Amino acid sequence: MPITEKKMCSSCGLCSMQIWPAEENISSCVFRNGWLGEREIRLFGRERSLDDPVEMRFGITSERFTAQLKKPLEGSQWSGIITRMAVRAFEENLVEGVVTLRRAPEDHFFSVPVLADSLDEIYRTRGNKPVLSPVLRSLEKAWQRGMKKILVIGAACHIHALRDFQERFDYLKSMEIFTIGIPCVDNVARSKWRWILERMSRSPQTARFMEFMQDFRIHIGHADGSVEKIPFFSLPQELANPAIFPASCMSCFDYLNSLADITVGYIGAELIEGEKMQWVLVRTPAGKRLKELITEELARCPETGEWECGKFVLNASKGIMDNMEQIDREYSKKRKIPVWLGQFMAAMLRLKGPKGIGFAHYSVDYHLIRHYYYVKFRFPELLDTLVPRHVPVILSEYGLPL
Ligand SMILES: Cc1cc2nc3c(=O)[nH]c(=O)nc-3n(C[C@H](O)[C@H](O)[C@H](O)COP(=O)(O)OP(=O)(O)OC[C@H]3O[C@@H](n4cnc5c(N)ncnc54)[C@H](O)[C@@H]3O)c2cc1C
Ligand code: SF4
Ligand code: SF4
Repeated sequence: MPITEKKMCSSCGLCSMQIWPAEENISSCVFRNGWLGEREIRLFGRERSLDDPVEMRFGITSERFTAQLKKPLEGSQWSGIITRMAVRAFEENLVEGVVTLRRAPEDHFFSVPVLADSLDEIYRTRGNKPVLSPVLRSLEKAWQRGMKKILVIGAACHIHALRDFQERFDYLKSMEIFTIGIPCVDNVARSKWRWILERMSRSPQTARFMEFMQDFRIHIGHADGSVEKIPFFSLPQELANPAIFPASCMSCFDYLNSLADITVGYIGAELIEGEKMQWVLVRTPAGKRLKELITEELARCPETGEWECGKFVLNASKGIMDNMEQIDREYSKKRKIPVWLGQFMAAMLRLKGPKGIGFAHYSVDYHLIRHYYYVKFRFPELLDTLVPRHVPVILSEYGLPL
């Protein structure tokens, strides 16, 4: 069995479908076909430009801006832009159903794949489920019910597999499929989630929201409304062990979901206390159509922040390389540095470090470097297949070895 089938799987859901031959499903796997490349050409008629530093990081876009819903949607991850677009697409009859996730009854952070086909069902899908999730499993139901227009909301591995599968086989060819992408990184397997949360939070049982924020801290929201803020630098050392993350997510090279019609995240938006500003990247005409459904509901702002973040990335890169190379390294349960010092460092970086699109630039480069060396040291035979062409160009910008 090829190594990709054995060791790399983000449980995207394609292989859980019974109605199509298993070998056809897996032939659309991104861990078999690689990230971007030909798929980007199929969608946009070209690959991202290697001469454009912004496009290399953020992918091909027709428009980018920051925004929040004027009336944020209670219970959504940020202001609820994704859920409102899904609701409006359904109300306008643009789609007959939405392939996405709802919360699992047994755990607030776990997911159940769903084909949402009523307004109530669509509203119920809001909010993050920060675990590997078989979103694509519901394609089966949409096909069996003869749907002709659907919306799929997913991470980059979902959208890659979906686009490939729709093009490669006849089953979904006649379906019009709209896609909304979430940026996605550091996702985890269900079996590891509680273990990780227990090491981050003082009260894992009451946690209801978790996000890696632009102020260099993890924010964990609790059922009583309080928010715990833990500096990245003060996490227990064992959380830096690459082995706690799935090999798939450590080999992921499309953080910003560049094949989605529209990507909706937060990482390139300015973090303003009390606001829920999000970052929107419109990529295709279908994405523009989805955005136009909620234009009147958006409070929009242009992007902010300085692009340059090179010295911060370089500062981090030596540690990343060492961490990826030392495969048998032992990780202690102790914190890297005390919380008070971590808070001080986070405050200094918030003042002097990258912000807005500079923070997005920093975060994309940080993860791209980490993942390049992860694959290089742990799956060298997959480097050529998995790594898209812009990655070595960015490494060479920093003078990092291939
Ligand atoms: C594991 C993970 C990591 C993320 N990392 C980043 C990041 O680093 N930077 C960034 O800008 N944004 C990231 N996001 C996206 C961000 O947290 C928000 O989901 C996004 O900004 C949309 O907010 P919203 O209020 O519009 O979403 P909502 O209206 O609440 O809708 C969220 C939608 O995402 C779907 N969804 C939730 N969990 C998953 C999942 N595991 N897989 C697929 N679909 C899912 C939901 O079913 C729902 O349809 C991440 C999301 C996840 C799940
Ligand atoms: S990632 Fe998806 S397509 Fe690839 S092996 Fe896993 S379930 Fe199948
Ligand atoms: S990090 Fe990448 S591979 Fe993992 S779930 Fe997110 S998009 Fe998929």
